[in-house]
Amino acid sequence: MANRPGEFDLIKSLLAPLAKTFPGAMALTDDAAVFAPRAGHEVVVTKDAVVAGVHFLTTESPEAIAARALSVNLSDLAAMGATPTTYFMALMLPEELDADWLGRFTGQLAAQQEAYGIALAGGDTVSTPGPLAITITALGEVPAGTALIRGGACSGDDIYVSGCIGDATLGLALLKKDLAIADENDRRALIARHRTPMPRLRLGQSLRGLASAAIDVSDGLVADLEHICTASGVGAEVRLASIPLSPPARRLLTDGPAWFDKMLSGGDDYELIFSAPPASAGDISNAAREADVAISRIGQITERRELRWIDENGQPRIFASGGWKHF
Ligand SMILES: [Mg+2]
Repeated sequence: MANRPGEFDLIKSLLAPLAKTFPGAMALTDDAAVFAPRAGHEVVVTKDAVVAGVHFLTTESPEAIAARALSVNLSDLAAMGATPTTYFMALMLPEELDADWLGRFTGQLAAQQEAYGIALAGGDTVSTPGPLAITITALGEVPAGTALIRGGACSGDDIYVSGCIGDATLGLALLKKDLAIADENDRRALIARHRTPMPRLRLGQSLRGLASAAIDVSDGLVADLEHICTASGVGAEVRLASIPLSPPARRLLTDGPAWFDKMLSGGDDYELIFSAPPASAGDISNAAREADVAISRIGQITERRELRWIDENGQPRIFASGGWKHF
């Protein structure tokens, strides 16, 4: 094994420092972590794996890979309204990754931990003949009974989405050279949105007790709204003109309108889609202001179990991918 610390050195020098603010992790010296949830709270647990060449380009930096591995998990906690507390990480490392790579990777994790007030609590490190893979199990907490779920949307509820949709899809297309944009600022902004997902944790927490259903956009607006509808036994009608787009995305669409479909189905936005009764509209906008996140009302939940996309002329839009979406 080239210039790489052995497992025990790696744990002691690079991973144990990530666990020092979490007493139950016992500096990663024991076989498992021990801790109790806070009184009156429930623990919310999620696990997501990312694999080189599948979930991120093999050319990405260790910092970008660390940011993605942790953020996709924190986004799942955001969708449940949870406050993250700790995480466990399994690293499956190909031989060629050296001490420098590992130092940069753990350095990025340290920065993110600090930003989110969390710590590593345990995990495993193995060598693999296959691609780099990172599995993180993230834990959060909510006051008992307040976790947001997918299955609570009711007919007549408004549908909201945070931030902007589609930037990450365009950023990835730029990196893969499937898309060219001349403006350097626009290029950079879109690639940053792909590389640096911003889990909407504060928004998720402020939606507890307000949103009837919530999900994070990892599979794309179309697929993830469908997940809410399926879990809730309802349908949805969405006004395409209300879907929030960033200025760089809008500029691209004036020349390449065909990208719109891909932006709605591309995924990796890590925004939140959520529903709430119209009577809560005022509380919802206060919650978004409190979380300092822009939100847009894009449509309504319907009793009829289909997903309808309505264009600016009030006409149903047939997507190249399949027209009316029935399920
Ligand atoms: Mg999710």
